[in-house]
Amino acid sequence: MKRLRKCPRDGYTLKEECAECGEPTKSVHPAPYSPHDKYAQYRRKEKYGK
Ligand SMILES: [Zn+2]
Repeated sequence: MKRLRKCPRDGYTLKEECAECGEPTKSVHPAPYSPHDKYAQYRRKEKYGK
C-alpha cells in the first residue's frame, strides 16, 4: 500500500524522495500521538507497579 507523501518544495508524491529536488518527503498523515506508546505506558505501569 502506497502512502501519499509530500515534498515541502514540490508538493505531493508517492516516493520517499522527491523526484524533482531529491529532498526526503514527509507523510501527509502525521500522527499527533502514537497509540503504541499509549499501550506501552500501560505495560510499564503494570510492570513497575508490582
Ligand atoms: Zn521536491
